[in-house]
Amino acid sequence: MAVAAGTKLVYDFAEGSKDMRDLLGGKGANVAEMTRVLGAERVPAGFTITTEACVAYMKAEREFPEGLEEQLWEALDRLQEQAGKRLGDADDPLLVSVRSGARESMPGMLDTVLNLGLNDESVAGLARATENERFAWDSYRRFCQMFGNVCRGIAGERYEELIKERKREAGVEEDVELSVDDLRALTGRFRELFSEETGEEFPQDPSEQLRQAIRAVFDSWLGARAVEYRRINHIPDDWGTAVNVQQMVFGNKGDTSCSGVAFSRDEISGEPRPSGDFLPNAQGEDVVSGVRTPRDLHELERLMPAAYEELMEILRTLERHYGDMQDTEFTVEDERLYMLQTRTAKRPAQAAVRFAVDAVDEGLLDTAQAIATIDAGRLDALLHPAFARDADFEVLAEGVAASPGAAKGAIVFTADDAVAAAEHGRDVILVRPFTEADDVHGFQAAKGILTSEGGKASHAALVARGMGKPCVSGAGTLEVDLGAKTVSAGGTTLSEGDLIAIDGSAGVVTTDDVPLEDPEVSDEFETVLGWADELRTLGVRTNADTPEDAAKAREFGAEGIGLCRTEHMFMAGDRAPKMRAMIMAETEEERRSALEELLPFQQEDFEGLFDEMKGRPVTIRLLDPPLHEFMPQAEEVVQELERARIEQSGNEQELEHTLERVHSLAETNPMLGTRGVRLGILHPEIYEMQARAILRAAFAVRDRTGEAPELEIMIPLVAYERELQLMRDLVERVAGEEDADELEVSIGTMIELPRACFVANRIASHADFFSFGTNDLTQTALGFSRDDVEGRFLNRYVERKVVDRSPFETIDQPGVGWLVRLAAWTGREERPELKLGICGEHGGDPESITFFQLAGLDYVSCSPYRVPIARVAAAQAAIASD
Ligand code: PEP
Ligand code: MG
Repeated sequence: MAVAAGTKLVYDFAEGSKDMRDLLGGKGANVAEMTRVLGAERVPAGFTITTEACVAYMKAEREFPEGLEEQLWEALDRLQEQAGKRLGDADDPLLVSVRSGARESMPGMLDTVLNLGLNDESVAGLARATENERFAWDSYRRFCQMFGNVCRGIAGERYEELIKERKREAGVEEDVELSVDDLRALTGRFRELFSEETGEEFPQDPSEQLRQAIRAVFDSWLGARAVEYRRINHIPDDWGTAVNVQQMVFGNKGDTSCSGVAFSRDEISGEPRPSGDFLPNAQGEDVVSGVRTPRDLHELERLMPAAYEELMEILRTLERHYGDMQDTEFTVEDERLYMLQTRTAKRPAQAAVRFAVDAVDEGLLDTAQAIATIDAGRLDALLHPAFARDADFEVLAEGVAASPGAAKGAIVFTADDAVAAAEHGRDVILVRPFTEADDVHGFQAAKGILTSEGGKASHAALVARGMGKPCVSGAGTLEVDLGAKTVSAGGTTLSEGDLIAIDGSAGVVTTDDVPLEDPEVSDEFETVLGWADELRTLGVRTNADTPEDAAKAREFGAEGIGLCRTEHMFMAGDRAPKMRAMIMAETEEERRSALEELLPFQQEDFEGLFDEMKGRPVTIRLLDPPLHEFMPQAEEVVQELERARIEQSGNEQELEHTLERVHSLAETNPMLGTRGVRLGILHPEIYEMQARAILRAAFAVRDRTGEAPELEIMIPLVAYERELQLMRDLVERVAGEEDADELEVSIGTMIELPRACFVANRIASHADFFSFGTNDLTQTALGFSRDDVEGRFLNRYVERKVVDRSPFETIDQPGVGWLVRLAAWTGREERPELKLGICGEHGGDPESITFFQLAGLDYVSCSPYRVPIARVAAAQAAIASD
C-alpha cells in the first residue's frame, strides 16, 4: 500500500522537534531537538526517514514507498552541501551512520550501520584528508564487517574469527595494535567472505550501500529479536522504526578522540553526579559491545579536560531542557565534542525517587512534574528484598512473577510443615502445585510460596501479595509430587529440606544460595509519597484481613480498609473445627449454636483490625467462598476413613458423615456456585452472626479507645437488587437488636458480576456504596477462570496478540472497564452520593488506577505492599486528568 502522494517521508534534523516522536522515532525527534538546543555545530547533521515510510515498506512486502528514493537523494544532497563533502568522494569523503529509532527505545534490538560511504577510492581519500591511514583502514574494515553482518546476515563470528586469525599472524593481542597493512589485508578478507556468502561483489556505489542499509534497518523491525522484545514490552508491531542518516564523526582517530555514553546523573543511585563509560580511540559500538573494557567517564577529565567540561555543561543543559534525567551518546573527534543522541534515562526505582527529590530541591521541577518522572510500577522494588544485583545463579524454572520480593529457604510441601518449621526458627519455602484456603496459615509461616500452577490472580498469588510474601506461581516445568514430597525440573529432583530460592519480582526459581538485599524505605521515598498525597484526589485503602496486614498498610499510608475478606478469619487453627461443625450442622438450631461459638472469635478479629485503623473506614465483606473450601478434601477423608476402619478407632461414623457432607457440597463450577450473597440467603444466620460480631467489636473498641471505626458492611456477588435488599434488611435488623444507632454504619455491595453493572441503578437504591470486585468481574465478563488462564492459554493469547497482557493484572478497559464505567455512572444517577471504590487486584496497578480516576471512583484498595505504589499512581492519574 502506498503512502498518499506528496507525503513528506524525510525530515532534516533542523526540521524536527521532540514532539514529533511518533513520526521521527525517539532518536530522530531528540537529535532534532538537541540540534535546536545545542546548536548545529555540536550535533552532526543528518536527516530522518519517517516511521510512516517504514510502515508503508512493511505493508508493501518490503518495497520502498513511492517518493522515498527521490526525497532521500534530495536530503542527501542537502547534507552533502552542509558538510562540504560527498559520499564516496576520492579526496575527502563524507561518511554517514544509518541508525534505527523507534517511538520507544528498544535498546540493541534494531540494526545500525556505521562508516557508510567508504569504498576502495574513498578510503584513500579519507586517509589523505585526515593524514591518518590507520584510521581510514580501520573505518573501512569496520564498515565491511558491519555491512555484511547487518545488511546481508553474515554471521558476526565469521568476521571475529578472521580478526583473531590476523592478530595471531601479526603476533598482537589487541585490535588497536593491528597495523595499516593488517587492516588492509583484513578488509580484503572481509570482502572475500562477502562474495563467498552472497555471490556478489561488495557494493562500491555509496547510493547502493545506503539503499541496502535503510532496507536492513526497516527489516530489523521485523526480526525475531525485535518482535519478542515488543511482545514483552507491550510495544505495538505497527509502529515501525524511523531511520536516521547522520554525518559520522570519529572517536577512533587516535588518542585525542574517544566515544562514550554519559548519564546526566548516576544511573543506578540517581546521585546528582554524571556517570558513564568511554573508550579512547574507539567508535561507539566498541563501548556498548563489551569487546574492550570501557573506562569510567570521570577519567576523561584528565585525558581531555576541555571536552569533559563541555560535556558536563551539556548534560546540565539537556537535563534542564527536558526536565528529566538524560542518557546520551557522545564522540570526541580530535578534542572536539559532538553529541550523537539523548533520551530519557531508564533507571531503577531508587534512582527515580532520588532524582525526583533532588530535581525539586534544585528548582528543576515542581512536585507534580517530579512525580510524573517516576515509573510507579517499578517502586515495588523498594519495598521487598531482592536477589543481589550482581548475583550469579542458575535458573531451575521460570513462572509468573506473582508477588514481588525474593526469599530462600528449605522446601516444605504442606502448610502444617511450614508452620512446624517456622516454630523451630527455620526459613522455608512452601512448594505446592496450587494453594487453597486451608493453606493460608502456611503462607504466614513461610518466607515465600512457589506453585507449579496458576497465575497472577491465583489463590497463591492473591494471598501472597496480600501478605507481602514473595511468590512465583505457575512454574509449569516443575513437577510437584506431594505424595513423595519431591519437586523436579529439568532432570533435578529436590526433596523436603533442600534449599530453594525464588524471586517473585522476576518469576525465577533457583537452587543456588543467592544473596538477598534488604529494602529500605528511604527519606526520599517518604518525601515523594508526601507529595503524592497532596496531589491525588483518589483515596487509597488496603485489602487486609489481619491486624498485622492492617498495621503494615497503615505504615505505608493506607487511609482505611477497602476489603476485609472475613473467610480468612475462619481458617486459623482454633476456628477451623468450629467452622466445620457449623457446616456439618443438620438443623438451623445446631448451626446457630455453632455460630454462637464462632462469634467471639470473629469479634476478637474485628477488634484487632479496628484497633489498628483508629477510627478510619473499614469495609468488611460478609462470607464469600463456597463452604466446601472450609472442609477437608474428599480424598483425605476417604483415606482417614479407611485407616479408621482398619484400626477400628470408633470415629468411622463421624467420618462417613463428613464424607457425605463433602460430597453434597461439591459443585461442578464452585466459582459460579453457592457462594457470596447466595450463602447469606441460604443460611442467613451466618451473615447475622458476622454482622453482630462486627457491631459488637466496634462498640468494644470505641469503649476501650474512644474511636469507633467507620463501618462499611459489604455483601458480595450480588446480581439482583432483591438479594441486596434482603441482606440489607437482615443487617439493619441486627443493628437494631444491637442498638447500633450510635455507630456509623453503611451497607453496600461488591459489584463483580456483569448483571450487577447493567442494573447498577436498581442495586444502588439499596446500597450506600459500591466496591468493584474486578477479579470476579473480569472472570465473569470474559468467562476466564481466574485460577487457570495464566497457566493455560494466556501466553498464547499474548503471542497471538489477542490481548497484550493479563486482564487480571491491568483492567481490560474496553470490556470490563466499560462495565465499571456504566455501573459507576448509572449507580450515581440513582444515588448521587453513592461511594465508589475498587478492591480487586487492579486497585494496585498504576495503569488501571489512571482508568479508575477517569471512571470517577472515590478510592482504590490494594494489598498493603502496593499502597505506596497506588499513592504515587493516583497522584500521576490526578495530574494526567487535570
Ligand atoms: C474481586 O472479585 O475482585 C474481589 C476483590 O474479591 P475476591 O478476589 O475475594 O473474589
Ligand atoms: Mg470477588
